[in-house]
Parts: sequence; structure tokens; C-alpha cells
Amino acid sequence: MTLKGKVALVTGSTSGIGLGIARALAGAGADVMLNGFGDAAVIETLRAGIAAAHGVRVGYNGADISRPAAIAAMVADTARTLGGVDIMVNNAGIQFTANVEDFPDEKWDQVIAVNLSGVFHGMKAVIPGMKAKGWGRIINIASAHGLVASAQKVAYVAAKHGVMGATKVAAIELANAGITVNAICPGWVLTPLVERQLKDRADKEGTTVEYQTHALVAEKQPMVQFTTPAQIGGLAVFLCSDAAATMTGVPLSIDGGWTAQ
Ligand code: NAD
Repeated sequence: MTLKGKVALVTGSTSGIGLGIARALAGAGADVMLNGFGDAAVIETLRAGIAAAHGVRVGYNGADISRPAAIAAMVADTARTLGGVDIMVNNAGIQFTANVEDFPDEKWDQVIAVNLSGVFHGMKAVIPGMKAKGWGRIINIASAHGLVASAQKVAYVAAKHGVMGATKVAAIELANAGITVNAICPGWVLTPLVERQLKDRADKEGTTVEYQTHALVAEKQPMVQFTTPAQIGGLAVFLCSDAAATMTGVPLSIDGGWTAQ
């Protein structure tokens, strides 16, 4: 229970990678504030289930990460109900695919607002409280697409490269404040975000989702295997440990060799 007494806020934790990270942090003893969209009853079942499984306090705040004021209010709500945020995981993210010339302006704005500006506003809202405590861990969920590009993902790739830049700046500024700032760069993780891409590819190419599941991973990763949300959760727990106290400003690839090529 290395994180007992710490409070973690994980954005976009009602599904996929964020949920895996929330579970892992709770498993290490942290109290957790969940965030994200979804059916209220399903979210309440998740919240109560994590609390019961790990004997920690778990809250939920439905802030829309594309709205800066909602992020600040969520951080204040967390401080009020669980205590100040010690661990901030900026994970909420969305995807949209189209060639640059066909990419709808509103989709560009939406992806940048959630995937990039949401990370900036999340860091900005928690840094004063972390500084006051002299301890903090900020973990930004970037992507292999924070390091390399793929076609049809202009907003996502731009946002994730931006997350890498913002991570490095915050890491330098906070280097002597007891706060580390790092980015996790996953390759393929089988979550609803990817399931939607698999279905689109299958529809477009007239193949099955099963065929695309293999083809999608094999196209990019030497290791033809998905990373799991639980494995990314394990990496997040490591970043919160004393062993990682001097790791900062780093992109941590967990991508089956994607960006080794
Ligand atoms: P997902 O669709 O399963 O989950 C996304 C979560 O974000 C959900 O909880 C959703 O409700 C929440 N969310 C979306 N928009 C939001 C908003 N405006 N405000 C608040 N919450 C919002 O996706 P995932 O695959 O788990 O992705 C999580 C993160 O991991 C994203 O930043 C994504 O870019 C990144 N990532 C995913 C993969 C992958 O292969 N799945 C790979 C690399 C990086």
C-alpha cells in the first residue's frame, strides 16, 4: 500500500486506460477521484466496486475536460471531498480520423480542447496545491503518436506531440518542487477508442473486425499484441513510487516496439 494517504485524480477514468490506471492506483492504496462520461448507474457501480475492492475512498466528478472552468471546479471538489490532489493523471482523450484537407474544423477544435488544452488546464489547476505540499506526481497520457505520426490523425498527433512539449516544460519548472511530470506513450490498447477505429476500418475495407484487430496492431508494432489498461496502470504506480523520484520530463513508451523502429 505504497500510496496510502495520497489522493489521485484520473481524468477519463470511466473507461479504458483511465479506468485501468484508477484501479491500479486504488490497488496501491490511493484514494481516487474518477472522471469521465457514461451512464450514471454504470459509473456508480464502478465507483463503489473500486472502493470496496481496495478499501479506499473513491469519488466521481463528471467535469467536461474541454471546459477549463469545469477542470478547476473538479480539482476544488476533489480537495473538498478527498483532500488535495497528490497525483494528477491527465488521461481523457478522443480521436477523429480524416485527411488534413477533409478534417472538419470543429473536430480539430474538439480534439485539441480535450487532448491538449485539457492537459494544460489539468496541470495548471493542481500545481499550486502540489507545491504547497512539496510532493506531486503529474502523469500525462500521451501516445506513440506523441513521438511519431500516422496518416489521418492530424489533430490527435498534433495534440499528443503538444502534450510531450507541455510535459517537458512543466517538468523543468517543477524540478525542485518535489513534483515530477512525465508522459506515458502507449501503443495499441484495446479500448472503446480503438474498437471504434476497428469498426470503421472493417466497414471501409469490407473486412471483419477480427481481421482488422490483427492488421491494425501488426501494421505498427513489432510485438503483435495489445498492451492492457492494467499494464499502463502498473507503469503509473511505478511513476508514483520513490524509485521514480528523479524521473521527470520523460516520454515512457509502452508500445510493443512501435517507436523503436
Ligand atoms: P476510451 O474511449 O476508452 O476512454 C476515454 C475516456 O475519456 C472515457 O472515460 C471518456 O468518458 C473520457 N472522456 C472523453 N471526452 C471527455 C471529456 N470531454 N471530458 C471528460 N472525459 C472525457 O479511450 P482510451 O483508449 O482509454 O484512451 C485514454 C487515453 O489514452 C487517451 O488520451 C488516448 O489518446 C490515450 N491512448 C490510447 C491508446 C489506445 O490504443 N487505446 C493508445 C495511446 C494513447
